[in-house]
Amino acid sequence: MTGRVYKSTGSWYTVKTELGQTYECRIKGKFRLKGIKSTNPIAVGDFVDFELDTKSDNETGVINKIHDRDNYIVRKSVNLSKQTHIIASNVDQVFLLVTIDNPPTFTSFIDRFLVTAEAYDIKAILLFNKIDAYNQDTINEVRYLAHVYRQIGYECIGISAKTGKNIDKVKSLMTGKVSMFTGHSGVGKSTLVNTIEPSLDLKTKEISSQHMQGQHTTTFAEMFDLSFDAKIIDTPGIKGFGVVDMEKEEVGDYFPEFFALKHNCKFNNCLHVEEPKCAVKLALENDEIAASRYRSYLQILEGEEEHYRTDNWDK
Ligand code: GDP
Ligand code: ZN
Repeated sequence: MTGRVYKSTGSWYTVKTELGQTYECRIKGKFRLKGIKSTNPIAVGDFVDFELDTKSDNETGVINKIHDRDNYIVRKSVNLSKQTHIIASNVDQVFLLVTIDNPPTFTSFIDRFLVTAEAYDIKAILLFNKIDAYNQDTINEVRYLAHVYRQIGYECIGISAKTGKNIDKVKSLMTGKVSMFTGHSGVGKSTLVNTIEPSLDLKTKEISSQHMQGQHTTTFAEMFDLSFDAKIIDTPGIKGFGVVDMEKEEVGDYFPEFFALKHNCKFNNCLHVEEPKCAVKLALENDEIAASRYRSYLQILEGEEEHYRTDNWDK
């Protein structure tokens, strides 16, 4: 049988078939995924093949195959083994909640998030939340940022998780897809999920507190089917949005507007910093590239480790 992993506790995986039946599955002792060194061989979001465990009551199964992943989000484990932990796989899109104040979300943070999403090959959407609470200045700021990010291809929506403004738009983007939500603590993630699906909020909190007690600081993602045709992956206790190690030469490729100009740079390995005849720097001088984007780029390029370490994003 084939199904999708909705939940994992480390040794057991809750697998749901297309018909909606769920089975608790284990993996064969020696089952290891080729190529990826991770603490967990199977993650929430994975499509797997499994056999029913005939010795037991037919409610449990054994996973014998994992389907190729479209993408996956990782976190470096907290211990020193440097092994990665796969938080979730086959994610269609991640919504970043942004607020101008209470709390402020800086463009450097937005850009790091977008670079990470590009590196993971996951669609990113920006939701400017709390628009009900903004004054003319902050509204102008939202308009400016939405303009900057729309111009380079990212969808931006001004929303209010509190009043429900534009939540229909968010829901229609979510339809038929697996979504994740992220952003600084206090931007309104819980409020938004609660507005989208009131019954989910409670569930999420219960699970999170359970895990806190039982599993030390390790928390597990879980996928939920919503009442409309949409899925959410909730990552209790995981603040950031993964970690990506990348080479300096790669960073510019994850800035779509830089990538589009790269072939015009004199050097094909141009880092867009000191090189002569750089198309990106020329575009920056002509105001065709936002100064804030270029600033973020330099920051990432200089790249102290903690800039990548998204579990520090909330600090
Ligand atoms: P989280 O930490 O991202 O889950 O944020 P919460 O959902 O807990 O929200 C943090 C605070 O912001 C709470 O006091 C919410 O009531 C408030 N909040 C969330 N969304 C909105 C909104 O759209 N407008 C306003 N005015 N407040 C909001
Ligand atoms: Zn260049």
